[in-house]
Amino acid sequence: MSFLEYAPAPESRAILNLRDEYGLFIDGEFRAGSGESFATISPADEKHIATIAAASEADVDAAVAAARRAYDKTWSKMSGRDRGKYLFRIARLVQERARELAVAESLDNGKPIKESRDVDVPLVAAWFFYYAGWADKLDYAGLGADPRSLGVAGQVIPWNFPLLMLAWKIAPALAAGNTVVIKPAETTPLSALIFAEILQQADLPPGVVNIITGAGATGSALVRHPDVNKVAFTGSTGVGREIAKAVAGSGKSLTLELGGKAANIVFEDAPIDQAIEGIVNGIFFNQGHVCCAGSRLLVQESIHDEVVERLKSRLSTLRLGDPLDKNTDIGAINSRAQLDRIRELSQIGEDEGAERWSAPCVIPENGFWFAPTIFTNVQASHRIARDEIFGPVLSVLTFRTPGEAIEKANNTPYGLSAGIWTDKGSRILAVADRLRAGVIWANTFNRFDPASPFGGYKESGYGREGGRHGLAAYLKGAA
Ligand code: NAD
Repeated sequence: MSFLEYAPAPESRAILNLRDEYGLFIDGEFRAGSGESFATISPADEKHIATIAAASEADVDAAVAAARRAYDKTWSKMSGRDRGKYLFRIARLVQERARELAVAESLDNGKPIKESRDVDVPLVAAWFFYYAGWADKLDYAGLGADPRSLGVAGQVIPWNFPLLMLAWKIAPALAAGNTVVIKPAETTPLSALIFAEILQQADLPPGVVNIITGAGATGSALVRHPDVNKVAFTGSTGVGREIAKAVAGSGKSLTLELGGKAANIVFEDAPIDQAIEGIVNGIFFNQGHVCCAGSRLLVQESIHDEVVERLKSRLSTLRLGDPLDKNTDIGAINSRAQLDRIRELSQIGEDEGAERWSAPCVIPENGFWFAPTIFTNVQASHRIARDEIFGPVLSVLTFRTPGEAIEKANNTPYGLSAGIWTDKGSRILAVADRLRAGVIWANTFNRFDPASPFGGYKESGYGREGGRHGLAAYLKGAA
């Protein structure tokens, strides 16, 4: 029980105007799917939200055909200036409907409303504004003399940041002059379907963006479709590997944004108060469903006990519960399958000899929940130090020298992100230089900006999203 009591402060759902059933968004209109439709539920109480169409191979074919027609007839012929106007319009409509989108996202995904409202949705708008600005400046981006779009992009995204991942995919693709067929994850299709309404409101020419719902089979049909020129995937390393094999030799361009097991390195001279907040944000933001989460804390041995004690005290103040409550810090785990995986890996952590501590919070009766958890006495060989748990679980390891910290941080098959906490600028530069990670934060964590490229090394995938680099992934010969 926390020492401060909070009255419930639920965000109203009245702003939502949901349909009972959603079709596929193809050629500017919703239409029935020919696959077996499925339900999307709220992970906080397992209640039904809406019935969602599933795209069969024939539907995927229709969506790609619509994207091809739109590419040939309108989008590839339109000036960058006009493309930019559509993107600005979409960005403004996202801002106008921000509250509705945030409520839908928290309902369908389980993330706290304060995160969807203050992080996800504002970043979605920022991404569209940013790439709107690039649409008429491709010639000046240093990406070749006459940069040309690739054609039809087939994009598949995960459930952890449903609308933000959609923005990361669609905004640069359209700015560069491509048309799109995108598939949201099967547990979180809702915000993408509301986004389809925004595209109608923006009067985007039919077929420029097509949104098809369904599970892995739909995604697989999309990335294998012979008339897709570019495949962009964000998701697990296993599926990414499969897609890389399927696409090899087909002439399609490919970007893969996969998993991670980031080291968050805290030196003894770090500003401890900020570091504690940064560690908490690094792994407990979005229930740890973050590919770049700081899931391995590497703390200098001399301050280990102090850091762990302060972390436990801070975690004891976090409020877990209703994602739509404005006071909630930790929302629901997105699905039963993900909860099972987090439980299994945590059990393995205990069995392998690490010491488990979970924050004392009341777990609601229904829905999928996992208390913020810390493992200490973790060895580099433990599964919880190697596998991506993708949940609110932090593994704490120690080091004595900067060299040891770097060696341990790089001892992972992944290479997506890392964090460094120290008072010394020179140490930040020296350590960052030797870390094999695509994104490195210093004295902060989980900061995103559309102007800053994001992506990984090794099993975290290849290609960059965001910034000028993100445009290159959608232009011929530029990537
Ligand atoms: P997932 O790979 O199971 O699913 C991702 C998407 O791929 C979903 O839309 C799914 O329906 C689809 N899919 C599944 N099988 C497919 C197939 N054979 N062919 C084509 N599409 C298929 O991953 P997930 O569980 O949804 O997401 C969690 C994973 O995503 C984590 O490993 C996380 O690290 C990673 N992730 C990475 C980033 C990044 O930017 N690097 C961002 C978010 C999530």
